[in-house]
This record gives sequence, C-alpha cells and structure tokens, in this order.
Amino acid sequence: MRILTEPDGIRLAVTDRDDGNLGLHAGPDPAAAQARRRRVERDLGVAAGRLLFLEQVHGTAVAAADEAPTIPAESAPSRERELAPIADAALTRTGRPLVVLTADCLPVLFATEDPSLAAVAHAGRRGLLDGILPRVLEALAAAGAERIRAWIGPGVCGSCYEVPESLAAEAEAILPGIAARTAWGTASLDLPGAARTQLTATAERLGLRLGIFSELSACTLEDPDQFSHRRAPGEGRLAAILVPQPRSEPPARTQPQAQPHPDGVDAAPHRRDHEQQRGGHGR
Ligand SMILES: [Zn+2]
Repeated sequence: MRILTEPDGIRLAVTDRDDGNLGLHAGPDPAAAQARRRRVERDLGVAAGRLLFLEQVHGTAVAAADEAPTIPAESAPSRERELAPIADAALTRTGRPLVVLTADCLPVLFATEDPSLAAVAHAGRRGLLDGILPRVLEALAAAGAERIRAWIGPGVCGSCYEVPESLAAEAEAILPGIAARTAWGTASLDLPGAARTQLTATAERLGLRLGIFSELSACTLEDPDQFSHRRAPGEGRLAAILVPQPRSEPPARTQPQAQPHPDGVDAAPHRRDHEQQRGGHGR
C-alpha cells in the first residue's frame, strides 16, 4: 500500500496485488476480501467498518457518504454489499474515509481546502463519457469547495487500452481528445488524459481552482504489481482510498461556544486552533 500524507493531514492510499483483492464481487473468496478490508482499515487507523466501500455500477451518482451506515462487525460479505451505497462516487463533509475499487478503470481522489470535505470517484470508460467527474466537482462546489486537489490513481493508460475503431470514434464524439493509439498502432482510449481535460474544463466552468496530481498513478496493464481486468479478468480489485480529517464539531455551527468543557478543560482555544488549521493551507 502506497500512502501519501498531505500537509493538512489528509491521507491518500492505493493498494496493490500484494495487499490482495478487496472486491467482494470479484475474486474467488469474498470472506478473504472482507478480512483484507478490515486489515486495510487497521493499517490506516480507520475504525472497523467505517471505510465507505461502494456498490459500483458504472453510473454517475454521487453518494452522500455521511448518511451511509458503518458496517457492523461480523456482517457477512453479502450483508456488507447490501449496506453499501449504489454509486460510483461519494462525498463527505465530515471526514468519512472513502474508497473506490478498480482494475483498469480510473480512481480519482478529491481533497479541498476543508480537510473534512472530500470525494472519490470510479471513472471507467462509461462513467467518464457520462460525466461522473463533472458531477463530483459540481457536488464539491455546492458543498462550498473553492480549491480542489485531484489525484488520478492507477488505471490503464492510453498506450494500452485498445478498443475497436468504432468505439474510439463514438467516444471521441462525446469527449474530444479521448481517442488515442496503442503502442502497437491500433485504436485506443486515453482515460487519464481525458479525465485531466474534463476536470480542467469543468473547474474553469465552475470557477474552481484545481490542481491535478499523478503521484499515485500507474498503468495497471503494464505494472504487474497492479490488478488489471484486461490482463487477468476476475483476479481482483485494488483500492484507492482517501482518509480526510474528521470534523470535530457539527458543520452547521458557526458561533464558537465559550462554555467550559465538562472536564474543566476550556475547549475554545482548541477550536480556534482547528479553524486556523482549516483555513491556513492551500495551493
Ligand atoms: Zn499502459
């Protein structure tokens, strides 16, 4: 697992084949995949069942992560799937840890100037063409974000993602620039490139400041450490994870309360420190 810690304390992580399959629907052993989910939570200091896995369907819905339940201990893998929001993106305003699973599709992780406000998206060919990434930026803007950092995680690259000429032409008509050529000269789609173009255009339309980062990128088909549906269908899914900073007070409260803490500790200075920290970073 590669882990990246940002100056504001949020953490980003991507798992690989050494960490094992994390998809309950993929791979031969859902119980083992579920146990690996709990191990990843432990390794990241996330409470068991709190990492919000989605039931991904190649759609464009953005789940409200703060309304999703914690997975109770001893839940069967089938029960864990039933409790998962049916969506390919999720947004938290309170710092709920988020994850998407992929094997060639693109995971994209979104942080904002508020370390409790973050989002993740699973963007395959279908989701990208249908506009899941603009939906996520719109949802973040509606939640008050103005400065966004986006990490494009491991996915199949434009030099590898071979598709029929007709499919490349159809995709190009919807998202100009997505059509590319493989290293061996046939038609392909450049999902990472198209994601960058689309994110940049959407941020401009919405008046958002956007930085796009590739520290977590890799080509899943070329890199044997990654799960790749094209190389080994059904072998498993890798996880792209974002652990925001938990919000220490209800987001609706605007007036700091100067009441003494029940334990005799004055909580107000801490709250001021926290707000300075939240407002004090950016790029
Ligand atoms: Zn490649």
